[in-house]
Amino acid sequence: MIDLFHIEKRFGDALILKNISLQFPEGSVTALVGPSGGGKSTLLRCINLLEMPTAGTVRIGEDEITVEAGRRVPRAAVQKIRQQTGMVFQNFQLFPHLTVIENVMEGLLVVQKWPREKALSRAMELLSKVGMDHKKDAWPANLSGGQQQRVAIARALAPSPGVLLCDEPTSALDPELAAEVVDVLGKLAQEGTTMVMATHDLRLASQIAGRVVFLEAGEVVETGDADTIFRNPARDRTRRFVSSIN
Ligand code: ATP
Ligand code: MG
Repeated sequence: MIDLFHIEKRFGDALILKNISLQFPEGSVTALVGPSGGGKSTLLRCINLLEMPTAGTVRIGEDEITVEAGRRVPRAAVQKIRQQTGMVFQNFQLFPHLTVIENVMEGLLVVQKWPREKALSRAMELLSKVGMDHKKDAWPANLSGGQQQRVAIARALAPSPGVLLCDEPTSALDPELAAEVVDVLGKLAQEGTTMVMATHDLRLASQIAGRVVFLEAGEVVETGDADTIFRNPARDRTRRFVSSIN
């Protein structure tokens, strides 16, 4: 379970996230949608504390940080929250100098200090889950974008994070390759992986997400189950947005 309470994020004078309180229950899949610049990526980065909110509370499971003026956030608490998240980026960001299997093992070896054998077997398990075990010794540069993204998903899941955060996981891919990634994410969703994803891909959102959060100008305009938001949104603004991209 992820809880966000009154999250605020400023960059200089600009207020980018305004008092956002959201809950993401265990096993839920949530799509963050909305116009460009609305704060989707920033919100994801505030969940794993790649960006520190300027105010508010982030809680994942038992771990929690609260940011307040004049109060220091303990580094250990930040690490604990971050370790419970895995992140997948639009442009994959695999380590180019490591093979597929080494990419998936890297965090286990370096951060988690797992013995090599154990990391290898965990990495193989994940590569077969995303259908990439046959490419375990390939270099990232020799893979299609869809294949690279599937390896990136395996890498993000390697340390068994409580939540998978995805920032536009399909938007650098042509439709056929995007479909491969949607299939993998759909399988993970069915297995009960908690996911929060920012996406412009309404197909991805409607196929996989149970819940949709519509974010605009740093505010939550509407949240609801995917069917309602895409077919019968309550707010005019959401309706206009959905019809503009359909
Ligand atoms: P997109 O759909 O284009 O990915 P988004 O909803 O993910 O957009 P964000 O990337 O979160 O939007 O950006 C929200 C706002 O915050 C934008 O106005 C952006 O310019 C601003 N912003 C993001 N990161 C920074 C930063 N590091 N410094 C200053 N402003 C930033
Ligand atoms: Mg973004």
